[in-house]
This record gives sequence, structure tokens and C-alpha cells, in this order.
Amino acid sequence: MNTLPSDLSALQIGAFSAYNRRPQPHLSGLVANFYGENGPDSDSITALSLTKFQEIDAYIVVYLIKDSMGRLMKEPQSQQYPKICAFMGKIQRPKPQKDGMLAQFFASNGEDADQVNALGLSKYLDAFIYIEILKPEAYKILTASNPSEPQVELLLNSDDLEQAATHLTAAERKALAKKQKVFQEANKILLMSNFFKQHAVWHSLGEPTAFQDWLKNTPCCYPDEAPCPHHPSLPFDFAPSQTPHYSYIPLCAQHAQNFSFHTIPGGVAFVRLRHQMFIQMWAFETLKKLLNTPSDQEPDPQKIANWALDKKLNHYLPPTYLNKVLSH
Ligand SMILES: [Zn+2]
Repeated sequence: MNTLPSDLSALQIGAFSAYNRRPQPHLSGLVANFYGENGPDSDSITALSLTKFQEIDAYIVVYLIKDSMGRLMKEPQSQQYPKICAFMGKIQRPKPQKDGMLAQFFASNGEDADQVNALGLSKYLDAFIYIEILKPEAYKILTASNPSEPQVELLLNSDDLEQAATHLTAAERKALAKKQKVFQEANKILLMSNFFKQHAVWHSLGEPTAFQDWLKNTPCCYPDEAPCPHHPSLPFDFAPSQTPHYSYIPLCAQHAQNFSFHTIPGGVAFVRLRHQMFIQMWAFETLKKLLNTPSDQEPDPQKIANWALDKKLNHYLPPTYLNKVLSH
């Protein structure tokens, strides 16, 4: 009688996510091709180069995570990713490829090659998949209770699969990169304009204390041959009579104590320029956060325009910026 081993992971040889490439026909069967990008996936594939894995039998199960357009394939009812094929195959030595590794599994003509053949359907080509490599006895054990529906899902580390689902497909990355370029060009226009020099814009983004807090993390900006080595710096008020009150630059205690417009190199002009630079950085960063933009991404100009409209600040937006936004 077959029983499930208490440690199911003992049946697993490996698992990784990859892109499904067209299977290659051979005289006596078909070779399944799975491309893993440099990183943990290609590392998992590289491990299959070990001599002990060459030409050994394995039970391969393939799950569909995303189609080639990057659409998530999780089934809404079962909350599972569809299993698209399962076959007995021989592990082949993986091939190094540009920016990754190609895993290859040979399936003999018959039922196994038929399973691999399905991977050549256009709906699965270049799809993002999750591959589980199991010891051959897994097949016997798992089909014992219900031969038509092997319970391989029992073995699956669903956390790994969920993690893989957050991976961007090549098509998604391309679309995002293209958008980022357009966003960056538009936002450059905004940063060159007077938008972030408006008191009304600062007010909509935060109180002066928020700007002061932000300055505490920037180094002392006193100009010298080398950057001032003194830490920490504090928001220094260079125009106490000004309202609304955002007139701060970061200075260390020593430079703040001796501050005078007459002695600081560059004088008033330097201080004003620095202030403009810092408050603009603060305003842009704050706005990015407000619009839930990841720190390494450009904010969406359409969202910025909507925010400005909502705050009745849209008349400060430069017309060239609005044209850019509207043309996309
Ligand atoms: Zn200093």
C-alpha cells in the first residue's frame, strides 16, 4: 500500500520559476525548454548541471503563473494557479544563455511527449511558469489514490509560487520602462518650472515642521572646499521674518552659530539657491509618497495633474507639462 511520506519535501529535487520556450522535437520525443533569468531561478537551474542529475528520471509538474502579456492566471474560485502539464522526463544538462539559463527535460514519445507538446501552444509560449521537479517515486505515490488526478499540489510550496507571481514578465517590464521614460521627461518639465516654488504648493504638501523634519536627514550645506563633515545638521532659519515660514537650510551647529549672509561664500544668492533646491526636493519627494509611487520609480504625471486640480493648484502647472500629460 502506498502512503504519503511524512516529509513530502524529500520527494522534491528542485523548483523554480521560468519562461516557457517552444519545446524542441527529437527523434524519440520532445525536449521541454524553460528559461530562467539570472538570479535565484537561474541558480536553481544551474544546480541541475551536477553529474548526479544527468539523465536521471524526474516527474515534472508545470503551473501557469502569468500569460505572455503578464496577466496573472490565478483562478478566482480556487485561488490556485492552473497546472498546465505533468510528465516523466529525463533531466538534461542546462544550457547557459544570454542573461540566464535554459533548463531542459526530455520526454519520450507517447503520453509524456504529448504533455510537453501542450507547452508549444501559442497561449503558453513565453508565459511565466512555475516548475516543480520531483523524484519519480512521487508519481507512483501521488497517483495511487487517484490515478487521473495526481495530488502533486500537496508538495507545492505555495509561498514560493506566490513569491514568483510578483515577478514582472518581460512584456510588463518593457511597458513599464517605456512609461517611466515618458514620465521622467514630463516631470523634468515640472521640476524646471515654478510649480515647486509656490508657497501654496508647499502648504498643500505639508506644514513647515514637515520640511524641517525632512532637512534633519540632509547634511550641512555650508560651501567649502570639501563637504562639511559635521553631523548632525539642523534646519537653520535664514529669514525669520518671512511668512509663510519655510525659510530653512540644513546647517551644522558650528556653521549655524557663525551664520551671516556677509561671510557665507556666495552670500544671499547661494542661500536662496540652496533653499530652492532643498524645498523642491522635499516637495517632489512628499508628492511622490502621497501618490504611492515606489521610491525607485517616477510618479505618474496624470496623477500629479489630478492632485493639482483637486488642490486648486493646476494654474501653476506649466502648459508644456499639461500638453505632455494630455498626449498620453
Ligand atoms: Zn557645517
